[in-house]
Parts: sequence; C-alpha cells; structure tokens
Amino acid sequence: MKPPPFAYECPTEVADAVALLAAHGADARPLAGGQSLVPLLNFRLARPAVLVDLNRIAALGHVTVENGALRIGAMARQAAVEADPGVARGWPLLTDAISHIAHPQIRNRGTIGGSLAHNDPAAELPAVMLALDAEMTALGPEGTRTVPSGEFFAGTMETALAPDELLTEIRVPELPEGTGWSFREAARRQGDFALVAVAVLLRPSGSSSGIDARVVVTGTGDGPQRMREAEAVLAERGTGGDACEAAGNAAAQASEPADDPHAPAWYRQRLVAALTRRACREAAMRMGR
Ligand SMILES: Cc1cc2nc3c(=O)[nH]c(=O)nc-3n(C[C@H](O)[C@H](O)[C@H](O)COP(=O)(O)OP(=O)(O)OC[C@H]3O[C@@H](n4cnc5c(N)ncnc54)[C@H](O)[C@@H]3O)c2cc1C
Repeated sequence: MKPPPFAYECPTEVADAVALLAAHGADARPLAGGQSLVPLLNFRLARPAVLVDLNRIAALGHVTVENGALRIGAMARQAAVEADPGVARGWPLLTDAISHIAHPQIRNRGTIGGSLAHNDPAAELPAVMLALDAEMTALGPEGTRTVPSGEFFAGTMETALAPDELLTEIRVPELPEGTGWSFREAARRQGDFALVAVAVLLRPSGSSSGIDARVVVTGTGDGPQRMREAEAVLAERGTGGDACEAAGNAAAQASEPADDPHAPAWYRQRLVAALTRRACREAAMRMGR
C-alpha cells in the first residue's frame, strides 16, 4: 500500500524541527530512519498530516565519549554505533545487542533515537538502555529536559516524549572496570524481532556478594522490564552455585507474557529462565568470577 498524503518538511536545524512540531502538534511526526514509521504509514496505522524529516540535521548524528560517558545523537545510525570502536571498548553490551537488530540494510538506515522513541515491545535497544542506566535528552518548546531510562519507556510504543518533543541525545554513563555483561536473544530467524531477549550487567559493588546486578527482559510485555527479583538473587548470592539458575527462575516468575501467534506464553517464560541463566553465567565469566 502507499502512505496517505502528508506535507513534508526537511529542516537542517534542531530548533526548526522543534518549532515545526510545536506548530503542528499531534498532526506532525518526526521521520528518522523510516524503518518503523514508513511501514506504519503504508499500512495506514499512522496518518500524520506533516512529516518532519530529521535526516538533514547534522547536529543529531554524533557518537562521542565525553568525561567517560557515551553521548549518542538521536540520528546516529544503528550501524554506525555498532561499528564504533569506542562503543565496543566501553559499552560492548550495546555493540552486541545492536547486532541482533534486523539486518545490516535496516541498521544502515535505522537510528538509535528512532528505535528508542518507537519503543517496540520486542526491541533490543530500550532493554539495553535500561540496563545501562542511560538518560534521554528531550527538547521541546519549553526547553530541554533529561529523562532517566527507567521513566522513559512508558508502554507499548509509548514513551515519556510529548508529541512536540524531540529526542535529541542519549547519554550512557561509564561502566566501572570489571563490569560483566551479556546479551542473549531467541528469535525465530536471525534478524527477526526477539521472542525474548535478556540483557545482564554485573557491576562490582560493595554489597555482600560484591555484585550490583541489572537484569532486563524484552519481548514478554509492553516494553523492557527490569527483573528486580532476579537482580536481588544475584546481589545476595553472587553468581556461584545455582544462583544464576535461581535468578533465571525468578525472572521467569516475574514475567507475564501473553499467548500470541509467534509463541505461547509458557514457551516465552521458559526462554526467560534459560536466557537469563545463560546471560548471567556469561556475564559472571566476563567479570572473572
Ligand atoms: C524488516 C524489519 C525488521 C526489523 N527488526 C527489528 C528488530 O529485530 N529489532 C528492533 O529493535 N527493530 C527492528 N526493526 C525496526 C528498526 O530497528 C527501526 O530502525 C527502528 O525501530 C526505528 O528507527 P528509525 O530510525 O527507522 O525510526 P522511524 O521509523 O523514522 O521512526 C520511528 C518512530 O519514532 C519517532 N521518532 C524517530 N526519531 C525521533 C526523535 N528523534 N524524537 C522523537 N521521535 C522520534 C517517529 O516519529 C516514529 O514514530 C525492524 C525493521 C524492519 C523494517
């Protein structure tokens, strides 16, 4: 199908893009890589009167490390971040997770900001940004605000962004030396959306086990879900013995997938248990435990 008619704006400055969104309100939609929005238009699931194309705004394409933190412009292509050696050195969890998104052609166009603003319930990037404690910078007519990832993802294809706000930058804090990480995904075919994916981050800490754990699951609900029970198991017991298995079981119990045409709920729950267990062991190994 062809998209419904729309007016097309192509600003080169962030301020002009924000002014256009403010002028048109909910009738306007930003266009980033178009890998999710264009199919929505073609299926007539979205009918914006105005598309504000962000592709000529050079100021949104950066990938830099500043004072130890990673700063990613919303329009940075997924492929560019995947190939960035600084990202691979400091945030290998992100590099690895991006390689699971669709296919290279889609990652060449698809942007980091587009995926986060879209917040598909089975997408990899929202889960990883939640595990990494990233912060989102939003710019609207009232100015700039920073939204922690824990408050940014608000439900299926919903975020904390207002219709007249642009996501401009993602800031990912530095990881302490000795952090262990793992990203595990099960999909029907390589490049498909995840049936379930799990991001595990184990930071050294002063807790009794010496570990501060983040366990985030995607594919089982309306967005990325922190598995706090699993995190508590790891913080208390560490990763030795059957702790990773217990963390996997805790995550499965806390997940509430529904039956859908791709997989029954019980299967997804088993995936949560198995992938969390494996990710936890791999992260522990990378931590040197
Ligand atoms: C065949 C296929 C397979 C795919 N498989 C996967 C997969 O396995 N995993 C996965 O995560 N994704 C997958 N995708 C989606 C892909 O990752 C998209 O690139 C991503 O979801 C959207 O990024 P985009 O830059 O293309 O954004 P667009 O499609 O241009 O925009 C998506 C939404 O975000 C809004 N938006 C974009 N940028 C901003 C901004 N800066 N501020 C505010 N709002 C903004 C748009 O208005 C729109 O509502 C797949 C896509 C295709 C076509």
